[in-house]
Amino acid sequence: MNTVYPNPKIEILPEHIIDQIKAGEVLERPASLIKELLENSLDAGATEINIHIVENGLDLLSIEDNGHGMSFENLPYAFLRHATSKLKVYEDLYHLQSFGFRGEALASVASSARLTCTTQPTNLNEAGGKLIIHGGSQELLIPYQSSTNGTSLYIKDLFYNTPARLKFIKSKVSEKSALKKMLYAFVLSNPQTLFSIKWDDKEKEIFKIAPADETQKRVEQVFFSKALKGINSEIWTATEYYQDYKVEVYFSPVTSSTPQYRHHYLFANNRFFQDKSLHLSVLRTLEPIWRFGESGHYMVKITVPAEEVDVNVHPNKTQIKFLKSDVIYSLLVTSLRAALKKNTGILPSSTSTFTAPTSYGSNPQTQFFSREENQSFDLMHMNFSEKKLEVENTQFHSSSPILGFISTSIVLLSFEEQFFVADIRKIMASFISSSLLNFIKNDELSGPLLISEPFKIPLGKIDTHFEDLKDLGFDLDRLNSDVIALRTLPRFVSQNISRDIMTCLLNYFQQTKIAKFEIASFKSYLESNWPITSPLPIHTLTQILENNEVKSSALILLNDKNLKSLL
Ligand code: ADP
Ligand code: MG
Repeated sequence: MNTVYPNPKIEILPEHIIDQIKAGEVLERPASLIKELLENSLDAGATEINIHIVENGLDLLSIEDNGHGMSFENLPYAFLRHATSKLKVYEDLYHLQSFGFRGEALASVASSARLTCTTQPTNLNEAGGKLIIHGGSQELLIPYQSSTNGTSLYIKDLFYNTPARLKFIKSKVSEKSALKKMLYAFVLSNPQTLFSIKWDDKEKEIFKIAPADETQKRVEQVFFSKALKGINSEIWTATEYYQDYKVEVYFSPVTSSTPQYRHHYLFANNRFFQDKSLHLSVLRTLEPIWRFGESGHYMVKITVPAEEVDVNVHPNKTQIKFLKSDVIYSLLVTSLRAALKKNTGILPSSTSTFTAPTSYGSNPQTQFFSREENQSFDLMHMNFSEKKLEVENTQFHSSSPILGFISTSIVLLSFEEQFFVADIRKIMASFISSSLLNFIKNDELSGPLLISEPFKIPLGKIDTHFEDLKDLGFDLDRLNSDVIALRTLPRFVSQNISRDIMTCLLNYFQQTKIAKFEIASFKSYLESNWPITSPLPIHTLTQILENNEVKSSALILLNDKNLKSLL
């Protein structure tokens, strides 16, 4: 049977209903609201923010700031939907400098809660205002003047007008931890702002302004605000750069098994976000010091060019997409490892050592990074796929002419059913010199390193040879009086021999008698100085042995005649 309904009248939804629907998006939970409010205060240039939260924000959420405030005329506009003073052009969406751009937070909360806002603009002669809104209807709007600039918002009964939504609010425990996470994220990323946070009628937690360049102070305040006396409250930190990219890591060596007491934060351009695989990378890299099944506190601050991140992938904007995520991963892992190295020396120690002549400065014995450290460097070229590495290895093993080593420097080989011996130093000298010759002759390009490699080597003769080295494909930059950075490598140089080649080149140029680079003299230098203390991976050596120049100049055929003369 058909029931005939009268044609439903299509009505345009009243504005305040639209706002309530929107409120559901913005005010999914008190933590999202506090985020919007803190962003507004920071956008207004606040250096002091006082927060009071009662009943996890459901009862009262108050925030007072000393930002630039609003004039009496502007105040009501702040509570209109799509009212924003921030979004000017579409491109602004791609820039992270200003936090809010939807112009909906205040309108949404005004439609739902009971709210009072008082504000005083920076120009103290100008009137600010006081505005009261209850569930979308304006109760009061009067001019108001104060002796200090800033804005205060008191939000009572967050779901006053939408009681159904109250039911959807998660359990109080999870609500509290979400709020805390959000608050501490702001506290951490704004060390130049004083925050005071009061929960219910408990004592205020105060985070004093940390001096410029002392993010670490703020990190300590947050990580160890509740720490018991006697606990190790150390923080390990390191920073790595690549072009306009920067990754700073801060973490505690101590761990805890209680999730509530762990602080885990990722920031991109000072914006808090969540990313499971970056989080797992942190845990995996810190495995050597964090007890199994536990973790310590960490904060990772990523700086990327604004146009290389996409923040609009999620309505709550806590997820971020990076254009060059491989750069982020390698910088993250490298910096974590650098911090580990700095504080423990856990990583295997250096295998190749560069000895600068004593006449160059006070630092005669300087050490390069170890091969193990370079693995993070290798990793980024492998895109972190360890599987690929294994496959490559077995492949090379089956077709390798290498039968074994007679000593650390002499290798036994077999090509087309003939046997050969060769000195590793000769092999490398021949490979490197012929490759360099090709590089120069063919005007080949060198490849940029994703992360430039630092070498500790004091200012001196080497600096006069930067041009020569550049011609050879090794582009170097002096960072300070002690450290130079390698920016490019010729393509024939694989990652696992780059350190040794650089070491040899630097040592070669440091010799007082070298005025100009000569292939032949460098070749003979390599023949007696190539480091054989750190054995080459078989697959690298196999590849090198494919070079015809190497075959014809470094291999000695083991035939009857040769053997007779040996025996
Ligand atoms: P949006 O931040 O996206 O612009 P909001 O609804 O959060 O939208 O705020 C609307 C406007 O109200 C802001 O653009 C700003 O001009 C003003 N405003 C909000 N909070 C503050 C504050 N704490 N201090 C000064 N101005 C504020
Ligand atoms: Mg806003």
